[in-house]
Amino acid sequence: MTIFKGKGACRGIAFAPLRRYERADLAAAPRAAADVRAEHARFEQARAAAAAELDELALQGRDKLGEENAFLFEVHRMMLEDEDYLEAIRAMILEQNTGAEYAVSEAGRRFSRLFAEMDDEYMQARSADVEDVSRRVLRCLVGRERQERLAGPAILFSDDFSPSETARFDPALVRGIVTEKGSLNSHTAIFARTMGIPAVVGVGETPAAEQFGLPAIVDGQEGALVVDPSPEINERYLRCKQRLEEEAARLEEYRGRPTRTADGRPVRLYANISGVADAQAALENDAEGIGLFRSEGLFLGRSTLPDEEEQYQAYAGVVRRMAGRPVIIRTLDVGADKKADCLALAPEENPALGLRAVRVCLRQPELLDTQLRAILRASALGPVSVMVPMIASLWEVRAVRERLDAARSQLEARGAAFDPKLPLGIMVETPAAALISDRLAPLVDFFSIGTNDLTQYVLAADRMNSQLADYYDPRHPAVLELIGRTAHNAHRHGIWVGVCGELAAEPDMTRTLLELGVDELSVPPASVLGLRRAIAACRVDRGNGEEQTC
Ligand code: PEP
Ligand code: MG
Repeated sequence: MTIFKGKGACRGIAFAPLRRYERADLAAAPRAAADVRAEHARFEQARAAAAAELDELALQGRDKLGEENAFLFEVHRMMLEDEDYLEAIRAMILEQNTGAEYAVSEAGRRFSRLFAEMDDEYMQARSADVEDVSRRVLRCLVGRERQERLAGPAILFSDDFSPSETARFDPALVRGIVTEKGSLNSHTAIFARTMGIPAVVGVGETPAAEQFGLPAIVDGQEGALVVDPSPEINERYLRCKQRLEEEAARLEEYRGRPTRTADGRPVRLYANISGVADAQAALENDAEGIGLFRSEGLFLGRSTLPDEEEQYQAYAGVVRRMAGRPVIIRTLDVGADKKADCLALAPEENPALGLRAVRVCLRQPELLDTQLRAILRASALGPVSVMVPMIASLWEVRAVRERLDAARSQLEARGAAFDPKLPLGIMVETPAAALISDRLAPLVDFFSIGTNDLTQYVLAADRMNSQLADYYDPRHPAVLELIGRTAHNAHRHGIWVGVCGELAAEPDMTRTLLELGVDELSVPPASVLGLRRAIAACRVDRGNGEEQTC
């Protein structure tokens, strides 16, 4: 038995074999094939394996992602039958004598470029699909294991996971994740919490090769990975898991209850999500709405942008699933640790202080316009609001409002339906926004405080740097002061204010946040019922609190 200690990033205990997460290198080098017929047979075998995977994904995807999104796998399946694409690969292998990997990666690149250069937005979006399909065939060719090909449940280990990798994990297979590096405040950790996957980050070393494949336990509370546990330890963790399940069962009494403090103050209790599948978790955990839909989940891990239709389908999927509960969609927040290949942003010296979020969107207005149109269209299906991240100045809000008005006019011209009163809110996550919240409030319909970024910017402590864990303190008086100031200014102008950073999910902070005047808390789905209990146990000191306006 070996115990690796790290930091618990998502509570919960998982039992499964330990597996190393492998990334296929998709840039295949040219090489001559020794036997062109055998090489071609290898390609056909890989194509059949990829087709079988896609059939299975289309089947499973209907439950996990909904009918419309699962259809994508069927489209990919059809691409595997496309004669032009197949002919290009065959010609390279049979006539030019190249290896199958190179032929697939070259054909993938060529066809993806071809689609990207087309005028039609829908066809442009297919460019990413061709790449995805080619990657899948390549993976089958090189025989590497990926999480979606896991034969059964696993605890995945990697030096670190990118946010886009984490966002794609299937919690039914990926029972736990462990990283050698990584910080608690990274988006990888946040996505794991959103999906409820027990996680440990920063164990500082990689298990020995022979430890992969052995039974293992992830303890996401204490921050431990136990490989090949002794019978006593195994027993102890089984009891722990049972206690957690009993605790979860006790929380059931809070399901369906209105969220109120002990002295009767109503609080909005919403969930943070990154995609359509998380909306299901939000509902299962009885969230009253979605307080933060991190839309960048749609943009990560791909090389072309999602078009308006694809975005609309994703937003509409969440709105339909939430069936009348409010959904707040955040506009694209890329940059810093969220690298979006599809935007090809130039590397920066200080990415957290660089071109991220609304700054990228205002530089590339077509990006923002497309997203706003998709969000507006989804607002015809239920109560939707839009929220803009990383605001620091008044002019940014005015500029976004102008784009929103323009998007409305474009949709009107098309005769498309939308909510003409779609509320516009901003995230307060820069010290500047908190300090000028009295002037920002009249321009918007609500504030949502992003304590994850606010903390890093107020305390000059990089949220990604695990060595700064003692400095990165969301409970620091300077952060709390800015939360109180923002809430005060919101209420003076008659708008509501929420917190959607990770601090919102800390039950020991509930009373403080409510006393500072916060009206809404938006948290990972698995934290909803526990937080409703914490709120119900709170008696809020009205002497320090703010007048409730909503
Ligand atoms: C935040 O900064 O608190 C927040 C909710 O946004 P993100 O964590 O996605 O940066
Ligand atoms: Mg943020």
